[in-house]
Amino acid sequence: MVINIKKVTPGTEVELHTKKGDFNCVILESPTPEIILVKLKSGYNIGIKEEDILDLKVIKKKEEKENERGKGKKEKKKINNDLPNVVLIATGGTISSRLDYKTGGVKWLTNPQELLKVYQELLKICNISKIEVPFMKASENMATEDWNKLSEVAAKYLNDSKVDGIIITHGTDFLAYSAAALGFSLKNLNKPVVLTYSQRSSDRASSDARLNLVCAARVAVSDIAEVMLVGHGNTNDEFCYALRGNKVRKMHTSRRDTFRPINSKPIAKVYPDKLEIISEYRKRNNNKVELKNKFSDKVALVKFYPGQNPEILEHYQAKGYRGIVIEMSGLGHVLTGESKNNWLPKLRKVIREGMIVCAASQTLYGRLDPWVYSVGRELQATGIIYLEDMLPETALVKLSWVLANVKPISQDKVKEAMLTNIAGEFNSRLTEEEFLN
Ligand code: GLU
Repeated sequence: MVINIKKVTPGTEVELHTKKGDFNCVILESPTPEIILVKLKSGYNIGIKEEDILDLKVIKKKEEKENERGKGKKEKKKINNDLPNVVLIATGGTISSRLDYKTGGVKWLTNPQELLKVYQELLKICNISKIEVPFMKASENMATEDWNKLSEVAAKYLNDSKVDGIIITHGTDFLAYSAAALGFSLKNLNKPVVLTYSQRSSDRASSDARLNLVCAARVAVSDIAEVMLVGHGNTNDEFCYALRGNKVRKMHTSRRDTFRPINSKPIAKVYPDKLEIISEYRKRNNNKVELKNKFSDKVALVKFYPGQNPEILEHYQAKGYRGIVIEMSGLGHVLTGESKNNWLPKLRKVIREGMIVCAASQTLYGRLDPWVYSVGRELQATGIIYLEDMLPETALVKLSWVLANVKPISQDKVKEAMLTNIAGEFNSRLTEEEFLN
């Protein structure tokens, strides 16, 4: 062997010739001396026995990568007065992480400025006039207080005349909950609020963060005053879609085009250098954003399954929950009829005692319709609020928001608010194009 592999700094990119084949990979810090741990281009980590290594060629030293970042640092300070100003709010997720050479896994960036060092292209579209980090966490670790904080930070900048738009980087898994929360809490929205993500960390050659961020910037400087999700439109690094934040679902564990619009068309198709409008949107305006960012924790989302015991309703009631969204059958049914687990009596009881029960559909696409079957009519008579074509997660966030904001609270007032289209969460005209696109 020409170079002693043990002397190669973790983080160095190498071409490795071994008895098991050739690999283009990054050297990781190895937990055992006889095994060399590497990260392949595909993202997988593999261990190779030291004795199996025949030769190695260094492609890029770790130090060179650090130097590249240094270069970025200088450029970042330039402010171009001809460009619009965008605030970047980093909240965590893969897009705010990078490969940890010690473990081979990814970890949060300690300094989100690093995102800009990697993606200088963004700065051709806008100045990133400020980077805010209200918290740095995976989206599964977020809760109502994080929606509250995020909305507060967003409102502060939306009401700043020197800011033209906002980009929020976020983990993919529960991004749609935060997007829905922003839609409800930022009343009289005046500028673009763009959430974006990546499925692969930003320091990886195959990362989807570059296109997503560049397209997010394109949308953040546009005249679309909506809360949107901007991400890959297909699996190539070609274009993104700007999707309505409260009508999207993460539909794939790893594909870069994981987010699909549900019961809705994209607002725009976005290329790094242009934007093609697809559907109607709210225009940029001079409103002052009113912050309504209270959310109740006492709401639950329950997925109905065949044979399920309705005592789950009383469980939540006993724990002080004030509202439940139930993901029901396509049109909006749960178990009824000759069964010990007939849901009708318990639904009547908890609703009579003040609980708010809402229905969303497990099919996601289409609209609930409790009028088709007589059982649906019986269910509706219990007082369930049927939420039309609203996504279950949007329904949960909306119920959490309505219960914290409607004063004085009553079942009628909550029903009225739940059925009012506040941020585009209902689509009254579903078309063919809105299915599986
Ligand atoms: N599950 C984590 C999150 O949603 C990491 C994955 C991602 O960023 O997409 O934050």
